Order: sequence, then C-alpha cells, then structure tokens
Amino acid sequence: MTSLRKDWDTYFMDIAFMVSTRSRCPRRHVGTVLVQGKKLLGTAYNGAPMGVHDCSEAGCMIVEEFVASDTGMIKKERCIRTIHAEQNLLLFTDRVDREGSVVYVTDQPCWTCANMLANSGIVEIVYHRPYQKDFDKVNELMQQRGILFRRIGNYVPPSDTEVQDGS
Ligand SMILES: [Zn+2]
Ligand SMILES: [Zn+2]
Repeated sequence: MTSLRKDWDTYFMDIAFMVSTRSRCPRRHVGTVLVQGKKLLGTAYNGAPMGVHDCSEAGCMIVEEFVASDTGMIKKERCIRTIHAEQNLLLFTDRVDREGSVVYVTDQPCWTCANMLANSGIVEIVYHRPYQKDFDKVNELMQQRGILFRRIGNYVPPSDTEVQDGS
C-alpha cells in the first residue's frame, strides 16, 4: 500500500500552488511560501498593491517587449500591474524570519525577483514551472551567491490550481 503522507517538498509546493489561486491576474498565477525548518512563515501571490484596482477589475497592464529566442527575436506581452509573488513575500516577511530559510515558488523566479531573493537572507529556492528566459543568469547568480536553486520536476500540482492556457 502506498502512503498518502506527502514528502515536505510536495507539501510546501502544494501550498504554494493553493496560494497562487488567490491571484487575480488572468495571465499568470504565481504563489510562494517561506519555510524555516519545517515551519511555514509566510505566503504571497502576484497581485496589485492593496486598495487599487487589480487585473480582474481594471484589466491587465500589458507591455510588449522583444526577447531573444532560439528562432530569433520574438514579441512577448507581459502584465506589469502586479507585484510579483516573490516581491510580495519579501514585503510581508521579516528579515529575521528569512535568514536561513527556503522559498518554495510555483514558477522559476524572473531575474529581478531572483536578484532580490539573493539579497534577502534565504538559502534555498525550490520551484516547479520553468522560466527559460532568465534561467542561465539566475542559475549563475545563485551559484555565485551559494543559494541552492532546484526544480522539482517530478511533481503534479493539486487539481484546479493552474490557469488553463489556450483561452
Ligand atoms: Zn494582469
Ligand atoms: Zn519576478
């Protein structure tokens, strides 16, 4: 008989995915949790600042940019209305709680978030969905900084916690 007891990685990543469902940006739902030892010290998701209209009320705030890909430059759109989940986590947790702690996040952090996390006291970042665009520079930063940076690949998020693409 297989055990229903989840390992810690699965347990905290599941919570990050549950947290991500709070996001009101239709384009991207990102959730993150701060863990010290086995203790949950904070949760955050991407969203507009408190008290201002969010994406569901005011629509996404889209910027277009051109990024390099294997097939040349491609145009990408992204929503800049929201504060990224990782940055909200830093805004709502204390430095003393972050020292030596682990961040679980549904998506690999972008360059800006990674840069901030690198200076936040945390010692490990665990993510599930890859974000290829910034992977190389983020990975190099984490190596230089001595922060363990790993992906849980063999993992299935809880049902109904992911935005369905193609709509
Ligand atoms: Zn949005
Ligand atoms: Zn980010």
